[in-house]
Amino acid sequence: MEDTRSRYDAQSRVLDDELRSRIAVVDLSYPDEEGIVGRFVQIGAAAAGLGLVAGDGAGRRVGGSRLFGSSCARAVGAVNADVRYRRVDPQNLDLDLGRALRSRDTWIVLHANDPSRAREELATIAGFDGPRVIMDIASPAGVAVWRAERIRDAMDLLETLGSDVIPTASVDLAMVAAGLELNDILLSGLHTEDDDPPAVGSVGFYSLHRARLVDAPVGTRFADIVAELARPVEARGSLASRRLLQVGAGGIATWTAIGAALEGGAALDGGVAVRIFDADEVSVSNLNRQILFDTPGEPKARAMARALAEIDPWGLYEPVEQFVQSPDDLGEPDGVTAVVSAVDDDEARVLLARHCREHGVCLVNGGTSATGGQATIHPVGAACLECLLQGKTAPRPESCALVAEQSIVSSNLVVGGLMLAGLRTALAGGRCQNVGFSGTGECRNRLYKYPTNVACPHRLAPARA
Ligand SMILES: [Zn+2]
Repeated sequence: MEDTRSRYDAQSRVLDDELRSRIAVVDLSYPDEEGIVGRFVQIGAAAAGLGLVAGDGAGRRVGGSRLFGSSCARAVGAVNADVRYRRVDPQNLDLDLGRALRSRDTWIVLHANDPSRAREELATIAGFDGPRVIMDIASPAGVAVWRAERIRDAMDLLETLGSDVIPTASVDLAMVAAGLELNDILLSGLHTEDDDPPAVGSVGFYSLHRARLVDAPVGTRFADIVAELARPVEARGSLASRRLLQVGAGGIATWTAIGAALEGGAALDGGVAVRIFDADEVSVSNLNRQILFDTPGEPKARAMARALAEIDPWGLYEPVEQFVQSPDDLGEPDGVTAVVSAVDDDEARVLLARHCREHGVCLVNGGTSATGGQATIHPVGAACLECLLQGKTAPRPESCALVAEQSIVSSNLVVGGLMLAGLRTALAGGRCQNVGFSGTGECRNRLYKYPTNVACPHRLAPARA
C-alpha cells in the first residue's frame, strides 16, 4: 500500500535535501477569493518540495476537488504531506513569520494587483533584511514579474506603481505568473548569488496587447508596464462548449487540463469536453509533479478524468486508455475545436500535426525539459507543427520524463499556461505567437520568441470535407 511517504521518496530523487529543507515561500494572497495565482504558487511549491509554505490559507475555491475546492493549507498537504504549512495573518506577519524573516532563503511572493494593499502588507515587515521578494501583477491582459533583493527595494518599486487596483488574471495567465515566480525561486537555490545583483530586476513579462513581444524592452518604466496590463483586452476565446482532444496525461497535461477545468468551471453557458488519451499508469515518480494523481498503478487517463470532474462538475472528461499511434485512434474529427499535444516524442507530434492539418483543427503543442520549454499554436492557416519541427536546427532538449530536476514543475506551469493562452487567442481569431521559456542558470528565467513563421507548404489547409 502506498502512502504519502511515496511522494516524499519520489521528491527526494529530484530535489536535493538542502534545497528542500531550506527554502520557504510566503505567499501574500489577494484580498478576496480570486487569488488563483497564489494557489498555483502554493501547490506548485509543494509539488517542487520546498520546505515551508506560508500563506493566509485563502485563495479561490472551485468545485469539490482536494486541490481547488478547499483551503490552500489543505491543498498543499494533499500535494505533499511533507511540506510544512504555516498560516499567517497578513496584518501580523512580523509575529507569524518569526525567524523566517531573518533568512535569505525565505521568499515573499507578493501579488501586487492592489499596490496599496501590497505596500501595507510589506510595511509590517519592512524592518527585516532577510527575505527576497518576488512580485507579480497578473491581469486579464498579461503578466509582469519582478524580483527585489530586499523588502525595502520592493517597497520602493511599489511606490512607482500608483494605487489603481488591477483586475485579477484569467487562469491561463495566472499559471504563467506563478510558474515564472516559482522557477526564479528554485533557481535561486541552484546557483550562488551574483556578486552585485540589481536591487530590482525583471523576471518575466507577457502581454496580450503585444502578440509579438514577450519581454519588456530594457528601460521600460514599471508604471508603463502596469498601465499596459491594466488596459482591457479584446474578447478572448472561451473554452465553454468546446471539445478538446488532449493527447498525453503527463506533466504538461496536468496543467493544461487543470486550466481547462478551471476555465470550464467558470463557464455558465456550457461546459468544456475533454477526451484524454494515455495508456500509461501512474507511477510513484509521477506523484510529485503530476499533482492530479494520488494512486500508483491507476491508468493515468482515468485518474485525470476523475480529478478534473471534481474540479469542474459541469464539464465532460472522458478517458481513453490507449496511446495515439494512428490517426484513426483519435476518432471522428467532427466538432473537435482543438487537439492539445502533450506528448514527449516528435513522431507523435507529427502524427497529430498531419491529422489537424487534414481536418482543419487547431493544434496546440507544448514541450518541456528540465531547463525550459516551448508552447506553439497552430491554428488553420498558420505554419504547421511538422514544418516547425523540421525547420528547427537547435539541439532538442532532453525529455522532461528523463531528466529529473526541480524546475520541471515550474516549466510545466509556464508552458501549460502559455498553451492555454495561445489557444484562447486562436479561438478568438487573434494572431498567435509561439513562445519559448528558458529556465537555465545562464538565462536565469526568461520568455523569448520562438519561431512562428517558418516555411510551410501546407498553410492553405483544405477545407473540411
Ligand atoms: Zn507545414
